[in-house]
Amino acid sequence: MKLRFLGTGTSFGVPVIGCDCGTCTSADPRDRRTRHGALVTEGGRRLLVDTPPELRLQLVAAGVPMVDAIWFTHCHADHVHGLDDVRVFSQRGRGAVEVFAGGECVATLEERFAYIFDHRVRPLEGTSKPEATLTAVRAYEPVSVAGFDVLPVPVPHGPLQVYGLRIGALGYITDGKSLPPRTLDALRGVRVLVLNALWFGSPHPTHFSVEEAVAAAREVGAERTYLTHMSHRVSHAELEARLPEGIFAAYDGLEVEI
Ligand SMILES: [Zn+2]
Ligand SMILES: [Zn+2]
Ligand SMILES: [Zn+2]
Repeated sequence: MKLRFLGTGTSFGVPVIGCDCGTCTSADPRDRRTRHGALVTEGGRRLLVDTPPELRLQLVAAGVPMVDAIWFTHCHADHVHGLDDVRVFSQRGRGAVEVFAGGECVATLEERFAYIFDHRVRPLEGTSKPEATLTAVRAYEPVSVAGFDVLPVPVPHGPLQVYGLRIGALGYITDGKSLPPRTLDALRGVRVLVLNALWFGSPHPTHFSVEEAVAAAREVGAERTYLTHMSHRVSHAELEARLPEGIFAAYDGLEVEI
């Protein structure tokens, strides 16, 4: 199984529009972070995690011609507003793209993207729209997604619940503020763990800081932990210098074998 980090930035992306800070003006390509997305592949099957605004650019850069299913962690704009780009997949004749999300996110998607999920809405003759089906997942109830056995592992994100994934030896969490005991149990034994981490220092109400993510990573005890969803307040070089052994900063385009 392979994991590709499509986008590793927080909701503003990096560089932030109009910002001249050290990270935003850095020459290191790893300091260019598009909004959050990831791709899990195995045996020719592709599971896309989130559809950020830069989805098209990310999939072109990765040379991905097709995805088999989409998993939404939650419905914040930086995680879903590239959804229209999946139109190319349904247009290629594979039919509707299967979309999986928690119940709250399913309701939001139906409302926000009625032109996709209301099947009474038909495109005008000679035009197209994304075709997709929605399936609601439930916390800790395993579900088969594009042939992957996925365990939905919830984490709190302010008033929202985010659905991370455990797929075999991979645990993938973004936009979390803590790991509830049952989620921590569900992640035990993963070899590769992904956690969100915003910046060093001051706590954020709905996201792990780097220090909080490091503490959570130690509790899970994976061989390797990768941090994602990072702000411009932290550069890749600073993360590399300050992270403890076994914990790494992900960057856009990084691929990890599991
Ligand atoms: Zn986010
Ligand atoms: Zn900046
Ligand atoms: Zn969020």
